[in-house]
Amino acid sequence: MTVRTKYRTLIFMNRTDIPELLLERLTRYAAIDTQSNMEKADSLVFPSTDTQIQFAREIAEELRSIGVPDVMVDENSYVIARIPASPGKEDTPSFGLCAHLDTASDAPGSGVKPRIHRNWSGESIVLQNGFILDPAVDKALGECIGHTIITSDGTTLLGADDKAGLSGIMTLAQYLIAHPEILHGPVEILFSPDEETGHGMDKVPLSLLRSKAFYTVDGGHAGEIEAECFNAWKAEVSFSGIAAHLGSAKGRMVNALAMAAAFVNALPARESPETTEGYEGYFCPLDIRGSTEKTDLLVFIRDFDREQMTRRLERLDIIARSIEASFPGGMVTIKKTCQYLNMKQKLDEHPLILERLCTAVVRAGLEPVQKPIRGGTDGSRLTEMGIPTPNIFTGGHNYHSRTEWASLEHMTQMFDTLVELTHIWGE
Ligand SMILES: [Zn+2]
Repeated sequence: MTVRTKYRTLIFMNRTDIPELLLERLTRYAAIDTQSNMEKADSLVFPSTDTQIQFAREIAEELRSIGVPDVMVDENSYVIARIPASPGKEDTPSFGLCAHLDTASDAPGSGVKPRIHRNWSGESIVLQNGFILDPAVDKALGECIGHTIITSDGTTLLGADDKAGLSGIMTLAQYLIAHPEILHGPVEILFSPDEETGHGMDKVPLSLLRSKAFYTVDGGHAGEIEAECFNAWKAEVSFSGIAAHLGSAKGRMVNALAMAAAFVNALPARESPETTEGYEGYFCPLDIRGSTEKTDLLVFIRDFDREQMTRRLERLDIIARSIEASFPGGMVTIKKTCQYLNMKQKLDEHPLILERLCTAVVRAGLEPVQKPIRGGTDGSRLTEMGIPTPNIFTGGHNYHSRTEWASLEHMTQMFDTLVELTHIWGE
């Protein structure tokens, strides 16, 4: 069967073609700048960059060109597409796959020039500007000798986060359309902007989604699946002092900056991001600005356990009262906002969704490894909104950095997992 696309003409399509299709897509998407902008996103510009609007259109056009009949881009640049069920399978439940269009702003993301290291020998990969991928340090890389490794040239990130996931879902769509003999139920696709800014699900058109379960394809090492994330809160702490002429400040001035510094000092040093891992939670002072009269401090609070989170939030109040006691005349107020919640609780209520994913990973020849996410994903937000959404590996590593890399063999195992998941949902 021949599938003609604007991008490529293929005599379609053996499973052996899949790695080259994934590689072509990852390198093509990576070269397109779709970096999101945290500051604009925080000031409610959505999507935060125009390049994402353009990319959403291009991806939708590509979906149409590979034969997906039902594709739309909404006014906020969410791409929604549906691959209809095989004849006779219309009544099986729909499930969804989700990836994000943007890349992180932690490293340069414009002008990405992917480098392909075929049959990688295991020698350190030397990039520009002194960046090195050393398998002695990077254990996951060390497991990939003989693989095709994709990196940037060292001047930018690669953007495998999440263009590896995007490539997997696009290639799955192409595969299912080209193989009508593969029986499956309805498959829904959601590509979202601005995941990296934390605003990715702010405007998701929930009423348009038909699936009761989604999977984000936005994880890391082959076999890893993620169904637990932090409970995340932020505290905006305001310190009000009393300003005075420094020459006659004795007994009068209350320095808001000193109050804020004392507050930061009172946070437990052993419960910070730099001293914790695995299931351990933390406090993290993130931003401070102000004057002697008024200082604002931003603190992130993270914990997997909800009761522990309640205790952490109470602890902030206790610290605030003790600072007020030490700085008579000064005042501390705290505004606490929930950012996202651990998705484990809601996923536990619908165990089938994770069970199916584990079965798919096993059928793809891997051992599923469940890891807690020390962060949040679009999936955690979607889960909170009522659509349980665990996360699937993509084969990408070292996200948000110039040493980001992906293994094509692991990306192919991601594809195999997606195919198996499609089978399972159609059974
Ligand atoms: Zn991501």
